[in-house]
Amino acid sequence: MELQDWYKEAGISEKVYDFCSKIEAGLKERFEAIDRTAEYNQMKVLRAMQKHKVSAGCFESSTGYGYDDLGRETLEDVYASVFETESALVRPQLTCGTHALTVALSANLRPGDELLSPVGKPYDTLEGVIGIGDNAAPGSLKEFGVVYRQVDLKEDGSFDFEGIREALNDRTKLVTIQRSKGYATRPTLSVARIGELISFIKSIRPDVICMVDNCYGEFVERIEPTQVGADMCVGSLIKNPGGGLAPIGGYIVGRQDLIDMCAYRLTAPGLGKEVGATLGLNRSFFQGFFMAPCVAASALKGAIFAANIYERLGFQVVPNSTESRHDIIQAVTLGSAEGVIAFCKGIQSGSPVDSHVAPEPYAMPGYHSDVIMAAGAFVQGSSIELSADGPIEPPYAVYFQGGLTWYHAKFGIMMSVQYMENEHLLSL
Ligand SMILES: *Cc1c(COP(=O)(O)O)cnc(C)c1O
Repeated sequence: MELQDWYKEAGISEKVYDFCSKIEAGLKERFEAIDRTAEYNQMKVLRAMQKHKVSAGCFESSTGYGYDDLGRETLEDVYASVFETESALVRPQLTCGTHALTVALSANLRPGDELLSPVGKPYDTLEGVIGIGDNAAPGSLKEFGVVYRQVDLKEDGSFDFEGIREALNDRTKLVTIQRSKGYATRPTLSVARIGELISFIKSIRPDVICMVDNCYGEFVERIEPTQVGADMCVGSLIKNPGGGLAPIGGYIVGRQDLIDMCAYRLTAPGLGKEVGATLGLNRSFFQGFFMAPCVAASALKGAIFAANIYERLGFQVVPNSTESRHDIIQAVTLGSAEGVIAFCKGIQSGSPVDSHVAPEPYAMPGYHSDVIMAAGAFVQGSSIELSADGPIEPPYAVYFQGGLTWYHAKFGIMMSVQYMENEHLLSL
């Protein structure tokens, strides 16, 4: 069977195949640049693993208290090397990105302290954690007397330096900077821009803690925010750095004193990093981190491929087809409920898991409207695997990300085009 026959057998028409192939042919240079970044980051991770003498003994499991877990301690050394930090906390007990961020914040803030976001409103789940506006969840930082301030980005996406200068005061203890736009419309920040922002903040208040929410950004560039002045960087292992193999977990890397506080908060004061069984997960954490540079590259290629296809078809895409990338998220405005549903059904039908089930819109807590989600993932909720979701409300945009291999991302996106074409929602 020829390659194209496989696509045909999977339901891709010749018209869709030809259209997508032409787009792909035009992306050669960009894909080569992505491969060079992946190669650079692969060497970074590989050399860190060699430096810290990763060995078969690191893959052994611990239970109970988990004292003297060689794998856990070595993995944390490897993360610290890759992010060029003094210390790291990489644990299955950090249950998700939101939890890792919650630990980093609550470990280092005290009643009366102020927390500042100089880049606008943070990711949705953080609203409840911090207690922004009326959205405080029980146990929020607000309940503990932490005051939140926010300075929005300017209309053109630039930093409001004057506003930030005014917001910084004697009580400002920690500044939180979100790298990815997440599911908002502002631009994603490059590591260089994060560096500029941190330099500005430190020129006014050298002692303020600068924390970066690094979710979806790892290995997209050659440097990470901790290399441009961030005191702490936080992320999820079911996104980029888990490489699709970590089944759970989060990481916090940064200054020794700050990470120690995080460990005391995660486990208990006095216990800190000494406890925390790894329950047989060390091997997948190591192997996933080893794969992560190439997996992030695959996801990035998928995002760029989709941006070019849907932009050519006349839809609005963010980022656009030619912009430089600083995270793996792609938004496509499809303009109708039918479009969002067909897109997600296409992605789902292209998945390795649950390809035979059709996603349907449903009501979800925290959303105003029904939401449709496509996820045929090996790890539940994993968004480094090809996944898409969209609220059924104007402007009818879908957000998608991931793809453990470029070929799967490519196929999933072709399936989304095919489903839209079958429903006459686009014309090739
Ligand atoms: C995904 C994400 C989070 C939260 O991570 P979860 O694992 O979903 O809890 C926080 N911030 C950003 C920017 C994210 O993309």
